[in-house]
Amino acid sequence: MPKYHIWTIGCQMNKAESERLGNRFEELGYETANAAEADLIVLNSCVVRQSAENRVLNKLNAMKALKEVRPEVVLALTGCLVNSRVDLLKKRFPHVDHFFKPGDYPPWLEKTDILSLPIHPSPAVYVTIIQGCDNFCSYCIVPYRRGRERSRPIPEIACEVRELVNRGAKEVTLLGQNVDSYGHDLPDRPDLADLLTELNDIDGLARMRFLTNHPKDMSLKLIEAIARLDRVCEQISLPVQSGSDDILKLMKRGYKVEQYRHLITQIRDKIPGVALSTDIIVGFPSESAGQFQQTVNLLSETKFDTVHVAAYSPRTGTLAAREFEDNIPLPEKKERLSKVEQLQEGIQTEINSRLLGETVEILVEGKVRGKWYGRTRTDKLVFFGSDDNCHGQMMRIRIDKTSPWSLQGKAESSQTNQEE
Ligand code: SAM
Ligand code: SF4
Repeated sequence: MPKYHIWTIGCQMNKAESERLGNRFEELGYETANAAEADLIVLNSCVVRQSAENRVLNKLNAMKALKEVRPEVVLALTGCLVNSRVDLLKKRFPHVDHFFKPGDYPPWLEKTDILSLPIHPSPAVYVTIIQGCDNFCSYCIVPYRRGRERSRPIPEIACEVRELVNRGAKEVTLLGQNVDSYGHDLPDRPDLADLLTELNDIDGLARMRFLTNHPKDMSLKLIEAIARLDRVCEQISLPVQSGSDDILKLMKRGYKVEQYRHLITQIRDKIPGVALSTDIIVGFPSESAGQFQQTVNLLSETKFDTVHVAAYSPRTGTLAAREFEDNIPLPEKKERLSKVEQLQEGIQTEINSRLLGETVEILVEGKVRGKWYGRTRTDKLVFFGSDDNCHGQMMRIRIDKTSPWSLQGKAESSQTNQEE
């Protein structure tokens, strides 16, 4: 049997695409293996920041050594390092046999209408609903690498979700760079609320999540749908990027901080107990200490459940890299980064400690270092011990220990059906 290996870094989109690729290879008779034993290796790359790009370049280097020892290995590169100048990529990485765009299939596989789905999916799976991004935030490379927005029709997504549920999945996370744009390019112009309403009727589907929302596009209709639909989890990922209007303008985000605050108030008002997460970039060109403090203020006052914070990294080809000098020194960027991390650690300590002694419901996704783990509807990671096979079960766990990053507890009982 031929063997394949897929190496992946980056966002959930990359992870979902690697999974789909792996399923396709298995349909074709390949079995998974480590890189040293594989006949076919795919690197799924990310270049959203220089640090990710460096890891990809290191991996490509390691592959050069491997190809010298085993030249018969087929090496393919996908993900956001692949741009439209494949001729230049070929020159730069002559040891790579094939390049294909993120979300595509490798060129030697015929395009197929058959959905490549796992035979035994994880209890919680990803499904892409919209590819690409039309937003062109000034710092971001994604629209240049993933192209314009393309939504998948509702019947196609529903068919895939139904099949995944038939095969054992219980939770689905709908993916897109901007899920709020979903449907604008489809004939009847359905939106995300319409899609969620349709999927909410699928028997056996216990939970739905979706990533990532854009503050300028999130509608009241969607917020009301999240509040109304029982399968939709009380969890929203809403990247703000900065607490300063001037920086948001330079970032070309299309909203002001006051609009963002208003959105948060609306969401919390309509969806009680909602968990909110956001993304922040610190050290954007010209970000002053005062502007950074505005971000800190927004975080202190909003108290997000999770914050993904990154130091600004200029990306060749973007507007920001062309027009703004990367003028915040690295030590200053690092200091701002660690300030946000420390602040957030305190906030998460406080939020999670409120769950001490409470019973939460989780979907068990797997086992790591002898402990089962799963997530609550609000995306809290929970660990517990059990000798039973709890994989894919809905479990009620009484929390006896909390930390900023996860919770621990003891199982009270298990449910196999949908959550109540
Ligand atoms: N579409 C989502 C949004 O609107 O925020 C997120 C997609 S983006 C690929 C993921 C995160 O990476 C962004 O939210 C941003 O915080 C971060 N990011 C993107 N470009 C960056 C850059 N040049 N430097 C630092 N962080 C960056
Ligand atoms: Fe990048 Fe902005 Fe699109 Fe998100 S919305 S992928 S940050 S361009």
